[in-house]
Amino acid sequence: MNLIEKINDHETLDILNKSNNITLKEHGNLVTLERAIFLSWWCDKGDCAFCYMSAQKPRIKEPSKARRNINSILAEAELVRRMGWNVEFLSGGYGSYSLDEIKKISGRIYDITGKPVWLNVGVIKDLEIFGEEIAGVTGAVETANHELHDKICPSKPLSDISEMLDLTGDLGFKKAITIILGLGETPEDLKYLFDLIGDLGIDRVIFYSLNPHEDTPYEKTPQPASLYYAGMVAATRIKFPKLEIITGTWIDNLANIGPLLLAGANGLTKFPLFKMFGTNNGRRVEEEVKWAGRKLEGTFTDLNYLYEVENPYPELEPFIK
Ligand code: SF4
Repeated sequence: MNLIEKINDHETLDILNKSNNITLKEHGNLVTLERAIFLSWWCDKGDCAFCYMSAQKPRIKEPSKARRNINSILAEAELVRRMGWNVEFLSGGYGSYSLDEIKKISGRIYDITGKPVWLNVGVIKDLEIFGEEIAGVTGAVETANHELHDKICPSKPLSDISEMLDLTGDLGFKKAITIILGLGETPEDLKYLFDLIGDLGIDRVIFYSLNPHEDTPYEKTPQPASLYYAGMVAATRIKFPKLEIITGTWIDNLANIGPLLLAGANGLTKFPLFKMFGTNNGRRVEEEVKWAGRKLEGTFTDLNYLYEVENPYPELEPFIK
């Protein structure tokens, strides 16, 4: 029986057992916490059916005001460093920053964290301008089924994303994609995802579950079932043992974390950091990791990590506070 049949036949425990063994063998038991840093709340495209920014677009009269203060972006990177987390990627809707600005911000974040930055800033053609400040480029694929993709994201064709990722690889950067589960795809659509990962030589996949936003066509759609989410991730892990897998979990679904770690997640993301840090929800994340037999890098609870005596970037201090 193949992996898709196993998910459809509810043999999820069987594949979780396999994916867990593969993950421990290939990646060890460390789990990272990942934080996407947003540059702006504006997106030129603004028509992806599930996206918060598409609901915001009609409300934003002056896109330049939806851009964040640069020092606030850098302060967030410094906090991420102090907590032992990773910057998942630098993210912003289409058209909110020029590539030169993105390069400069990436360089500053690289200085602060000591780690090159992943980008997720739409389809970029002039990737040649980037250098050691970036680790790789993320293509926001969302769903690998072409037909579904064209309906949900009419303005960002998969062919453009694939072309960008090809160029990314040619320039020696790593390649990532984002996938959202719960958009109407089925386990059968894994074959498109597997082809995409294999054909493009993807290094990292970031899975999210649908978060049904108000005023979008998905507002009345439930989030995907926990075992469906875990089964889809586990199948991907079994098919691609060396792939880096990050999984997103919303604050109302913390119980997904354990199964997702068994499924093959190397890192966890999508938490409202400042709302959760040091609270019972932060402690719950740590418990989920512990009971999946994993060890967390960094902290979600220890305030001592935040109060460093020396700050090499005093201009960021007001924003850090
Ligand atoms: S391109 Fe990205 S930010 Fe813009 S509407 Fe689509 S998903 Fe949202």
